[in-house]
Amino acid sequence: MKLDRRNFIRMCGVGILGLGAAKADKIFAQVGSGKYQSTVTSDGKRWAMVIDTKKCENCDDCIAACHKGHNVPEIKPKEEEIKWIWKEDFEHSFPGLGHERMSQELMKRPFLLLCNHCENPACVRVCPTKATFKRGDGVVMMDYHRCIGCRFCMAGCPYGARSFNFQDPRPSITDANMLYPTRTKGVVEKCNFCAERLVKGELPLCVEACRNGALHFGDLNDPNSEVRKLMESQPTIQRSASMGTFPNVYYII
Ligand code: SF4
Ligand code: SF4
Repeated sequence: MKLDRRNFIRMCGVGILGLGAAKADKIFAQVGSGKYQSTVTSDGKRWAMVIDTKKCENCDDCIAACHKGHNVPEIKPKEEEIKWIWKEDFEHSFPGLGHERMSQELMKRPFLLLCNHCENPACVRVCPTKATFKRGDGVVMMDYHRCIGCRFCMAGCPYGARSFNFQDPRPSITDANMLYPTRTKGVVEKCNFCAERLVKGELPLCVEACRNGALHFGDLNDPNSEVRKLMESQPTIQRSASMGTFPNVYYII
């Protein structure tokens, strides 16, 4: 039998819903048990972001810069929207961490969310085609040509960091950036930590666009990096740290 894209998905025997119930439970049972430890290495770079939420003025410059630079389409309705970075309130960003006497200011503060480029990325482990993979520097990438649209990765990611192209995104891109590839209907996409800029020694677009100095990016393996110094001098938290995914995006609150 010819193993085309459609047949491959059929042969997998499980759809996104089936995975959600059974396999995702298994994944999180494994990562939550402490079986998987952080794999930060002592050499090479390990990219991370530190977000100082006290400095964020909710202007959305970061989101605009990212989405314009990466040809992220503006699609409505909400269930079909594509997002690489977005904002949520505390309760939705850090479920389970709040309490009834938390300050109203913190409850209402906007938190910038994106792919955490996890040390133990569940999305990578469930992808049957290696369309999503983790680089040596920790950046979790997508190969759109290998993606068969099964959406196992979306079920695996506990952060909602991935979007599926239910429709051809190209008609919904305004003022396309000709230097960055567009995607097609039927593939998943997400933040790539601006890998195309890192290779040139440039900061991610969101970091560069933030006029308030709320976003910081650097090498976790360098004790003198700005991100390491910030993390040593101020309390930081990660999203759903108990999942064992070891996010590489940290929040100063
Ligand atoms: S945040 Fe989600 S998509 Fe990003 S690396 Fe972690 S599990 Fe994968
Ligand atoms: S949708 Fe694409 S990236 Fe996600 S698991 Fe399936 S093949 Fe891999």
